[in-house]
Amino acid sequence: MKEISTFGSSSYRISDLQLLRNSDEDDAAIARLLARCPIMLLDAGDAVTESNRARLYILLRGTLSVTNDTRTGMADGTVSKILPGESVGEQSVLDEEANLASISALEESEVLVVEADIVWQLIDESNVLARNLLRLLSFRIRAANAQLRRRQKLGEFYRQLSMVDGLTGLCNRAWLNDLLPTMVATAHASSSPLALIMIDLDHFKQFNDSHGHQAGDEALRAAAQVLSGALRPTDFAVRYGGEEMMVLLPDTSDKVALSVAERLCERMRQAKVFADMRQPLPHITASFGVAVLRPDQNEHDLIATADAALYRAKELGRNQVVA
Ligand code: GH3
Ligand code: MG
Ligand code: MG
Repeated sequence: MKEISTFGSSSYRISDLQLLRNSDEDDAAIARLLARCPIMLLDAGDAVTESNRARLYILLRGTLSVTNDTRTGMADGTVSKILPGESVGEQSVLDEEANLASISALEESEVLVVEADIVWQLIDESNVLARNLLRLLSFRIRAANAQLRRRQKLGEFYRQLSMVDGLTGLCNRAWLNDLLPTMVATAHASSSPLALIMIDLDHFKQFNDSHGHQAGDEALRAAAQVLSGALRPTDFAVRYGGEEMMVLLPDTSDKVALSVAERLCERMRQAKVFADMRQPLPHITASFGVAVLRPDQNEHDLIATADAALYRAKELGRNQVVA
């Protein structure tokens, strides 16, 4: 980056500068302040070499790339382009914070460099410039806020994605760890019954052995669909691990939970695992253990109670519900 002239000796005009848009072309005070400001030439790829002082850079010709933060106030690596007439660095001039953006030329460019004290004198001289500057800053704050919101949304999206089991689409263990304690606390606080049904596919090892692991995955998906298809919007189905699943039924008595489990057990028997007519129709069954949260129980006790019921269902011959 090298100085090639000053604004006063160049052919650029005040009306070329966005910050001075709508100002009086013949304003002698503004012209005098800008006259001695240097114009630097940058070759493509050149970086704007930062001094320790805050400065305003106004692009006169070419294109600059700014890797944030100056434009949006966020050091997040976002890249934006500066086109002729636009400026960069005004925020660091105003708050005297270092300019953390890295600015470089995307093609041969000419940049007007305005030192901070000149910027302040321009603000004192020109209401138009002060107004344009306020408008610009307000625009940048809005842009930064919008970006923040997009990031939050994206973060929430990925958080939710990390709570979903990839194979079955059910909630996963991370979801359970995150939400079950809250559900238990809510149930205790409101003295409303929280029911949990623990489900384990029967002889699933054998299923895999006879039909292959891929068919096993299909069966797991079919089982998950049975669960999620039969529940109310307030209920949750979770893949607890391997071929173990869990259904959480807030505000549900033991009697109702038992009938839900019976319904799920029946639908599991009827489930079509895959619709390939050339294959013998494999079917699946599952065993169900039902528990309802007692006042003295935490989430671990609740799971253990349902697990014990499930174990009894297996012992009694599988393909059935035990409460
Ligand atoms: P039980 O009736 O006593 O539950 O018998 P089981 O064979 O289902 O029980 P076991 O726990 O011995 O075996 C579970 C099997 O589930 C073993 C494993 O190969 C299979 N399995 C677990 N996760 C997956 C999976 O994601 N995909 C497939 N295809 N199989 C799985
Ligand atoms: Mg198992
Ligand atoms: Mg099993």
